[in-house]
Amino acid sequence: MKKTGKLLLVFLLTLFVTMTPVIVSANSNAKTLKELKNELQQLKNKKAQQDANKNATKSKINNAKNDIGNKKSEIETNTKDIADATAESEELTIEIEEGKEKLDKLMSVYQIASENNTYLEYIFDSKTYDDLVYRSALSEQLMDYINESIESWNDKIEKNDVLKVELAEKSKQLESDIDSLSSSIDQWGTYLNKLEEGSVSIKEDISSTEELIKYYTSIGCGENEDLEKCASVKGDTRFIRPLKKGTLTSYYGYRTSPTTGAKNQFHSGVDIGGNGEGTPVYSIANGMVGKIIRQYSCGGNMVYVYHTVKGVQYTSTYMHLLTINVSVGQSVSSQTQIGTVGGGKGTKAWEKCSTGAHLHLSLATGWYGKTYTTSSQWKSHLLNPQSYVSIPNKGQWFYSRY
Ligand SMILES: [Zn+2]
Repeated sequence: MKKTGKLLLVFLLTLFVTMTPVIVSANSNAKTLKELKNELQQLKNKKAQQDANKNATKSKINNAKNDIGNKKSEIETNTKDIADATAESEELTIEIEEGKEKLDKLMSVYQIASENNTYLEYIFDSKTYDDLVYRSALSEQLMDYINESIESWNDKIEKNDVLKVELAEKSKQLESDIDSLSSSIDQWGTYLNKLEEGSVSIKEDISSTEELIKYYTSIGCGENEDLEKCASVKGDTRFIRPLKKGTLTSYYGYRTSPTTGAKNQFHSGVDIGGNGEGTPVYSIANGMVGKIIRQYSCGGNMVYVYHTVKGVQYTSTYMHLLTINVSVGQSVSSQTQIGTVGGGKGTKAWEKCSTGAHLHLSLATGWYGKTYTTSSQWKSHLLNPQSYVSIPNKGQWFYSRY
């Protein structure tokens, strides 16, 4: 694991200092139009699956939000019920106190009365035996009634206490349910974001595949015909300059990095300065746009064009572009404007490897993305552009494309 990490770091550093671009899925593995259409169908299926996942996740999130809402209102009801029970118990406590006072009074009257025989007199003063029974029963009934009431109020208070504990426990459970629902929502949200990112790249793959199908269909390739042969770019006899004027500011090969100051850094092409941002950049020969990379942190907007010059396949690369005026699969001539010069203020937002407006031009043999697919293979196929395109040495200017 540690070793892998180190290797990865070395790989990334190498990537950074040599300005080697990463392959973006602008190219497909399909060899025929039929295969390309199958790839498109697979991409569409994948997108449909992702969309279904997205919708399912969204409805999970919505359901959880509703659940949380319901649980919150249940907690509110519980809180209100607890408050009601507390208020009721308080009232009952007062009533109990009052009942006890009444009882005390009755008892003291009874005691005083019985000491002074008033109670007996009260009883014996009864006119009849029925009256006597009635009178003594009345006092007892009153005391019994108060005692029973106190007992039932106490029962009610006890029941309220039990109820309050139960409600509080329920609310606690509801709170923890809400917590776990919230963290589920967070997790689903993260998953949803990943799906969104994935679907953006699938959408790009779908549209670039559709573009390729459109292109191959428009030039009349058969369903089972080899695409490379069918689309073999219109041959050319030579390369011309990518700009109408300019001056070389950095040679191809090993140099001291202008951004990091590090020595013996490999420079994968030539830098041509002397033009402001927005100056048109042209293809250096007839060909076909093979690959486009946008806003790469070291190289910015990059266009790769496939050429066949005197029967040999080449790939030219234009880096630090401010704008890109072509699309993958597009046929270009040496007069086609593929983009505009960037690398200065306009591209600073995403560019770390340019110190000012200029064009970086690389040239390699083979078609990067078709003949070979890795950046290290591209590196091993690199050529010195000055040997193929007439670009004068430092200190001199050119003022035409020829
Ligand atoms: Zn450069």
